[in-house]
Amino acid sequence: MIDKELICIVCPVGCHIRVRGLDNEHLGVSGNKCPRGEKYGIKELTDPRRVLPTTVSIRNASFARLPVKSSEPLPKNLLMAAMEEIKKVRVEAPVNTGDVIISDILSTGIDIVATRDMDRI
Ligand code: SF4
Repeated sequence: MIDKELICIVCPVGCHIRVRGLDNEHLGVSGNKCPRGEKYGIKELTDPRRVLPTTVSIRNASFARLPVKSSEPLPKNLLMAAMEEIKKVRVEAPVNTGDVIISDILSTGIDIVATRDMDRI
């Protein structure tokens, strides 16, 4: 039996939702004020994911770190491994917003992309 209370993080309302069911195939959600909460609650229990925002080292730019994020939410259980891969990377300026810094990280089909421009100095 699954019975878990969560706070929906899809919008600022932050509904307290409850996900219950016999197994992952038969889950019901209560407490959600809209259908997005139901989708979030079931996804959070069956395949939790997060967008990973972080920075990478950059050379020849006005700052030492370039902000990046995953192009799609990554499985939560891969976030630490993804950070280990990202730590190994050093990019060279210039970089434009949306440039792919790491393609297909951990064979997930998800890229790590730049979230700002950084000129060469
Ligand atoms: S259930 Fe709907 S209204 Fe409530 S926090 Fe989630 S998205 Fe917002």
